[in-house]
Amino acid sequence: MTPNASSRITALLLALALTNCAQNPVTGQQNLVLMSESQEITTGRREDPKVRQEYGVYENAPLQQYVNEIGQRLARASHRPNLEYQFLVVDSPDVNAFALPGGYIYITRGILAYLNSEAELAAVLGHELGHVTARHSVQQISAATAASVGAAILQIFVPETRGIVGDNLINVLGGALLAGYGREHELEADRLGAEYLARTGYDPQAMVKVVGVLKNQELFDAEVAKAEGRQPRRYHGLFATHPDSDTRLQQVVGEAARFKQATTRTGQEEFLRRADRMIFGDSPSQGVVRNNHLYHAELGLAMRFPAGWRVQNRPQNVQAVSPNAEALIDLRIAGPAKGTPSEVLRKFVRLPFGSEVTSTTVGGLPAAVANTSIGGKPTRVVSVFLGKFAYLIGAQARSQPAFSQHQAEINASLMSFHAITAEERALARPLRMRVISADAGLTFAELARRSPLGKFAEGHLRVINGLYPRGEPVAGQPVKIVE
Ligand SMILES: [Zn+2]
Repeated sequence: MTPNASSRITALLLALALTNCAQNPVTGQQNLVLMSESQEITTGRREDPKVRQEYGVYENAPLQQYVNEIGQRLARASHRPNLEYQFLVVDSPDVNAFALPGGYIYITRGILAYLNSEAELAAVLGHELGHVTARHSVQQISAATAASVGAAILQIFVPETRGIVGDNLINVLGGALLAGYGREHELEADRLGAEYLARTGYDPQAMVKVVGVLKNQELFDAEVAKAEGRQPRRYHGLFATHPDSDTRLQQVVGEAARFKQATTRTGQEEFLRRADRMIFGDSPSQGVVRNNHLYHAELGLAMRFPAGWRVQNRPQNVQAVSPNAEALIDLRIAGPAKGTPSEVLRKFVRLPFGSEVTSTTVGGLPAAVANTSIGGKPTRVVSVFLGKFAYLIGAQARSQPAFSQHQAEINASLMSFHAITAEERALARPLRMRVISADAGLTFAELARRSPLGKFAEGHLRVINGLYPRGEPVAGQPVKIVE
């Protein structure tokens, strides 16, 4: 959650109503696409500030410059060298990379943590570049829009609370740009990315390598998700087969061998030097979640979510979902702390006529609470003032029995909102990645014992070092740790 996030990725979808035929710059064939090139550029330029606001730009100038330089080099060697490209690291712990139409390419700092060389970074950028040069996003968004409409989520607040509307559209965009484009387009992006790698002096096999790294990340996340009773995360471009036995991937990447330069660059040292000291996981400006506690030093607040719920810390809100997805708790900023908490609550929650709003205190702070039903779903909303902001915390369940079942933990969570203490402020410190040199006999089990990554630290450290599931450090080898 960031103090000034109010993003709307709205107009993009409207722009897609227009249909025309355009030549595919890669194949030279006529494709049915939804935009002309100038529409693509206009759309990218217009939506880019919204992506920047939604995710935040990772403030690390040398790293940004490094990523952009590699991206620009790939772009010059691509099938659309004349587009104006932007390669940006966004401040998200998620493992992702995506592109807007028109040459706007984004990579999360979360995915960077899993990469171990410049060639692997170039492979991720090259894959996204392949989606742009083959114009996949403009072909695919409409299909994804249709697919995600059914993914109805619970709604507590009226749209002006800078949340739900934006969230839905992000979800729609997510369908096309974040989740992926389908097997054929992903293979085409891998093929093109491998070609751009080869043309810029990397080994195109880095594409297979990075797909393997991300596949292992997915397998590891599936293992953790199972233990935590949540849905695993997926990175687009990943399919059921592991890249080692994926013959079609091997084949499309193999085709790039003919563009391979005499000498190739891996750039491990250079990449690790840039990745050293990078923030790992939540950043302090967005608030840090540890063991389902939210500590937000910048906003000066702390709150506890029910144990076992999946907590997602997003720019617009923090949302916790129960293991069976029957109930959620949503914390967000309503606006400045003006008037009374009751007034704020009535303004932002579409309460049925005659609903009662009770003034109270939460964590010693002025607050108001309402128990109601919104869209036929039992809902409890608290409005609370802290510092210069009014906050809304809503809890909703899909049914009355579900609400009753979770009522005790919901109430405890809503009432746990309070001004951050000095001890909690210390917990809000972000984790950072460090690169060390392995001593002889160093094991991941030993590193895990002194790691803040929790009970899955051993596997997690292996994944970020490209040594999942059973590898160990070799003496003298650079090893990424988190501290
Ligand atoms: Zn992709």
